[in-house]
Amino acid sequence: MKFEPVIGLEIHAQLKTKTKIFCACSTAFGAPPNTHICPVCLGMPGVLPVLNKKVVEYTMRMALATGCDIEEVSRFARKNYFYPDLPKGYQISQYELPIARKGQVDVEVNGKTHQIGITRIHMEEDAGKLSHDPGRPVSRVDFNRTGVPLIEIVSEPDIRSPEAAGAYLRQLRAIVRYLRICDGNLEEGSFRCDANVSIRPAGSETFGTRTEIKNLNSFKHVEKALQYEISRQKEILTDGVAVTQETRLWDPEKHRTQSMRSKEEAHDYRYFPDPDLLPLVIDTGWIENVRRELPELPAEKKKRFMAEYSLPSYDAEILTSDRELATYFEDCLQELAQPKLVSNWIMGSLLGLLNAAGKSIDQTPISAADLAQLLKLVDDGTISGKIAKTVFDEMAQSGKSARRIVEEKGLVQISDSSAIENIVSTVMGANPAEVQAYRNGKTKLLGFFVGQVMKATHGKANPKLVNEILRKQLETQ
Ligand SMILES: [Zn+2]
Repeated sequence: MKFEPVIGLEIHAQLKTKTKIFCACSTAFGAPPNTHICPVCLGMPGVLPVLNKKVVEYTMRMALATGCDIEEVSRFARKNYFYPDLPKGYQISQYELPIARKGQVDVEVNGKTHQIGITRIHMEEDAGKLSHDPGRPVSRVDFNRTGVPLIEIVSEPDIRSPEAAGAYLRQLRAIVRYLRICDGNLEEGSFRCDANVSIRPAGSETFGTRTEIKNLNSFKHVEKALQYEISRQKEILTDGVAVTQETRLWDPEKHRTQSMRSKEEAHDYRYFPDPDLLPLVIDTGWIENVRRELPELPAEKKKRFMAEYSLPSYDAEILTSDRELATYFEDCLQELAQPKLVSNWIMGSLLGLLNAAGKSIDQTPISAADLAQLLKLVDDGTISGKIAKTVFDEMAQSGKSARRIVEEKGLVQISDSSAIENIVSTVMGANPAEVQAYRNGKTKLLGFFVGQVMKATHGKANPKLVNEILRKQLETQ
């Protein structure tokens, strides 16, 4: 029997506000434990939460960027459960009345566009963090994260493959980063994902029993965990057994999911409206203000890059995956209107350099103007593309400008025909057997001669001229 996977993702994104969602404590990451706390986020008796307006604004940005309807009235509820990292004994979250619903994001997988619905986006507070001492019966709790604002983005079960799940996750991460509301760091946990997955006979309309996978802290893990879970469920169903509804944990070391606990239901949490917080009312004027200030989003930018700069989809996708990278590309074009040349150098040399150093584009050692200056030298024939790579590496190391490196090292390309003709004659004179072989039809030897001329000129000869002159001299006896 052919099975079809049905996948839905729940994404938690930590908002980059300066202060927590219901108090004035700092949200800064990495402070000593229990230094960013106050009676409100510790849930002391008698304190009152006050909603942070920025949290609402950031959530509205995300809602509008994903085509959601923003509700005029939404409400916070208490989600009751006990855990040592939750001092109040409940988490404040939105339940029956979330701030936004019914959005949609389009993702592309292997050239095909998939529409993935967004059920809802709601606001909530994060819990604290427990750390356990290995080998000792000691656990520590840090409440710095307690009350840090999160949004939860719940997708419809519209995803049909692990690849599409990965593409959707990447797309949402790009959007939160474009909106500057979340740093999108999966490893540090500021962008987290749980996946619901079930399988059903292909063509069926009803859903199978689903499992929820947690602990997916990288794009790679999401796709791998889903692949594993889909094949695990296929085996179970093929054996005629039923899938158990449960929460499973992805083990990246063992490459498998493991049962964590039976799936809890919403009613287990005894949700009720938080009596300390008024219903949230948002007027249309505010919504329109936020909408007006939205930046150009990755999908629109990608389309524009393809139309305006005639870039292939692949280039446009990479260049627009990060807002700062897209800006860098367009800054280069201000200096040199050669989109494909610039794109090749950014995707190849620049991203190669940054990835190797574990740096992001805002930490680049070579500014857009400096890269453009280097490429101008290639474009006007002053240096060859090959020499340009050497100059690029030197720029990254020394911080010197391309022009200065070319001057200091005497790397200017030899584009003087008579100079090249002389070198070609010398090379031919030194290799009479190869010349004869070429003339007897072994034209593949052209590459050998090009190599010899380049060697003699330390790579500085204009390759186009070298080819032309070599052909001419080899073919005239
Ligand atoms: Zn606080």
